[in-house]
Amino acid sequence: MSVNGFLPPPEKAYPDWSRFLKDIWMHGMAVSNIDPEKAANHIDSAANSILEVFTRRNEAKTIRPSFGLACARQTYYSVQGEDSGKMPDHIGSTFAVGHLLHELSYAAVESAIPPGFLVETEVPVNLPKWWPSDTGKFNQRGHVDMLIKHDTHMEAGLRLPYLDSDQPHTMLIDFKTMGGFSYKKHGKTVWGEDPDAFGYLAQLAVYADALGVIDTGAIIAGINRDSLTQPLSPRFIEPAALKAELDRVKIAIEMAVEASDPGEEFLVRHGKDAYFQCGRGGRPGYCPFKEVCKDNPTREDFE
Ligand code: SF4
Repeated sequence: MSVNGFLPPPEKAYPDWSRFLKDIWMHGMAVSNIDPEKAANHIDSAANSILEVFTRRNEAKTIRPSFGLACARQTYYSVQGEDSGKMPDHIGSTFAVGHLLHELSYAAVESAIPPGFLVETEVPVNLPKWWPSDTGKFNQRGHVDMLIKHDTHMEAGLRLPYLDSDQPHTMLIDFKTMGGFSYKKHGKTVWGEDPDAFGYLAQLAVYADALGVIDTGAIIAGINRDSLTQPLSPRFIEPAALKAELDRVKIAIEMAVEASDPGEEFLVRHGKDAYFQCGRGGRPGYCPFKEVCKDNPTREDFE
C-alpha cells in the first residue's frame, strides 16, 4: 500500500537543501503522511539493530570514519593499540533510541519526498584509496545514512518547483540524534571552526571523499531525542570545510601510521573550548583517551 504523502510544492522554490530537507522530514513524520509500508520496513530494521545493541558489546576495535578521527592524537593512540576503555554498561538505551529515530527519519523522508528525487539509505561505502589498507587497524568499509539524488529518469524540471536550480543534484546526509543541549549547540556550530568533539565533520569528510561528492557539500541533520516534537536541524557543510577537514584527517592518519605522536592536537586547536571533550578544567570529557593523553603531556599549559 502506498499513500500520497508528498510534501506539497512550495509557493517559491526552496533556496537550499537544508530547508527543503527540514520540511520533508516534518511532513513525513506526520501520521497522516508517512507511508505505512515504508514505516513498517524501517521499524523492522530498527528492531534488529536495537536487539543487537542490547546483546552485543560495541566497542570500536579499529579506526573507522566514525571513531578515532576527531583529534590527531586519538588517531595516534588508536593505531598504537591504546585501550579506548569500555562503553558504559547502560548505553544500550541511548543507542536504541538513536537507531529508531534514524529508521523513522528514513521512512519519513522516503514518504514525503516529491517525485523527481531518489533516496538511498544505509548506503555501503568503500573507503577512499588513500585510506590505509591495514585491516587489523583500519575498517575498510563503512556506510552513509542517506544519499538523495535527482532522478534522471524522470522528466527534467520535476525537481524545479521544489529546489532552486542552482542547488546540487546530489546531497549526502548524516543524521545525528542528540540530547537537547547538543541539539541547541548544533544549530549554532560554525562547522570547520568550532570544536567537533565527536568527529562528525571528519566522518562526513571521509565519506564525501569516498563517494566523490565532496565538491557538493553535505548535511549533518540533528534530531533532538529529548524533545521529539522539535524539527529536524539540518546544517549544510560547505565543501571548503569538508576539504580542510579531509586534509587534517589525512595528516593525522599519516602521523599515526608513522608512530609520530602529534601531542594534544585537539587542545592546541581549540584551547579551553576543548575541555568538554578532553576532560580538563574540571570537565568530565568524552575522549576515550583522555587519561593516557593527560599522563603524557607535551605541553605544560594544558595541565
Ligand atoms: S584528550 Fe583531547 S587532545 Fe587528548 S587525545 Fe583526546 S581529544 Fe585529543
